[in-house]
Amino acid sequence: MVIGIIGAMDEEVKILLDNITIDNKEVKAKMEFISGTLWGKSVVVVRCGIGKVNAAVCTQILIDDYEVNNIINVGVAGGIGIEINPGDLVIADSLVQHDMDTSAFGDKLGQIPRLEVFDFKCDNELVRLAKEACESSSGHKSFVGRIVSGDQFIADVNKIKWLQGEFEALACEMEGASIAQVAYLNSIPFVIIRSISDNANNGAHIDFEKFIPIAVENSTKILKNMLEAM
Ligand code: SAH
Repeated sequence: MVIGIIGAMDEEVKILLDNITIDNKEVKAKMEFISGTLWGKSVVVVRCGIGKVNAAVCTQILIDDYEVNNIINVGVAGGIGIEINPGDLVIADSLVQHDMDTSAFGDKLGQIPRLEVFDFKCDNELVRLAKEACESSSGHKSFVGRIVSGDQFIADVNKIKWLQGEFEALACEMEGASIAQVAYLNSIPFVIIRSISDNANNGAHIDFEKFIPIAVENSTKILKNMLEAM
């Protein structure tokens, strides 16, 4: 079994690369795919870059060229809702692209037209493993629910309220739902695990810089526990 692990930014894959025993490195689409053993499991770790297009290209390469059996995306996200704070963890059970809008035709916001599903569901077993990993790692609150993605850094209270009301989202980021769509199209089980770096409100860019190290540490800790249990 080979597990594909995607992080969008260098910060999000650094601890993984510090711990992997490397077998091979290859650059494709300007992304470095690093194969090896991480915490006892065969993995391919890759930094995909920010945004949905990078994430989609990366996920398809992992599936076609590395034949990964599962995909895990770890990283940071903006928290939605007053009880979710920086450092907390959100495990997606479903994802939607909040910037997909063909509502002029009467479609629901977020619906990808002519696709048979509205949201992309994470694999139940991977969600269960991620949740168990959170519970065995003391000190962090964790939530399971919907994550929404779009090509926007959300830093606006009104936009958060909209994301919450429209999609019942617990967190927002810029890659997860794209990885989810590609995994769905290829029938590959996946899960998205994000730790909160900011509250997607007006000071989000400042919190983001401040909390990114702790958020990355938290999501990596969960991934480690999870890989060891798989
Ligand atoms: N210029 C910044 C851009 C960061 S974009 C930089 O290069 O550091 C934010 C990244 O963190 C994306 O990968 C996204 O998935 C995640 N993220 C964290 N908080 C977010 C928020 N409030 N809105 C959208 N994405 C967020």
